[in-house]
Amino acid sequence: MPELPEVETVSQGLRERALGRRILGVEVRHPGVVVGSLKQFAAQVEGRTIVSVQRKGKVLALELEAENAPPCYLLVRLGMTGQFTVAAREAPLEPHTHVLLALGEREELRFRDVRRFGRLRCCTREELEAAFDRLGPDAQQMTEEQFLDALRGRRGAIKSWLMNQQLLAGLGNIYADESLFVAGIHPLAQPGRISARNARRLFRAVRKVLDHAVKLQGTTFRDYVDIEGRPGNYELRLRVYQRTGKPCRRCGRPIRRIVIAGRSSHFCPACQPRPREVTKMRGPRH
Ligand SMILES: [Zn+2]
Repeated sequence: MPELPEVETVSQGLRERALGRRILGVEVRHPGVVVGSLKQFAAQVEGRTIVSVQRKGKVLALELEAENAPPCYLLVRLGMTGQFTVAAREAPLEPHTHVLLALGEREELRFRDVRRFGRLRCCTREELEAAFDRLGPDAQQMTEEQFLDALRGRRGAIKSWLMNQQLLAGLGNIYADESLFVAGIHPLAQPGRISARNARRLFRAVRKVLDHAVKLQGTTFRDYVDIEGRPGNYELRLRVYQRTGKPCRRCGRPIRRIVIAGRSSHFCPACQPRPREVTKMRGPRH
């Protein structure tokens, strides 16, 4: 599932390839991925020029300008398997391509999504601000103070805390696992009980992991590709995610997997020691 580094890579690609270009036509092949009326969607997007690309957490927004109307924003959520690519108009369509936005005569922006959890929605500036306000600070932009404040007094598992978009926007399963490993923190530790030293270490780990992943254009497991259709390069750098049973890159002990709130968590039992008090979970002890 695309997380902050993948969405940032797509937004950088859009800035390079789509900025300043006019959307000449819209074709919606699967209406389920567009929020609201299709007619209205087409009317709002067609003929407008893409003048900026913004991102907060995993949400993208393309600002669309028209001559005699207030700007509108195309809000894009890639969901589980959403892809946004620029292709030549004559290039064959891949299956599961749901929306085509013609960029000039020769190229088009294509939205493809196998699982169809992704969404495109046109909205006003106020609606965009409201959507962004519902998210916590962006995980790449937040200050240390914001991060420490948000941890204070929180219960539950730190892994779930890192993935809660209302507290911190941008992390999903991959980069939450990786950040906890880099910081040496067990995924079941309670956010409010982490020492100040470890909390600062976690803040720096999140930044370091995200910055590095953005540099390598993200991680591809199944479907994620950048705007040119290329996979990410971070996969080989993963330390714990999906490495169950493989040796820890730091100490050699096998990486373990536990399930927290229905999601797999991968960690090294030696490098991420279990604190004395952890979040209580149903089921067998881990
Ligand atoms: Zn280890």
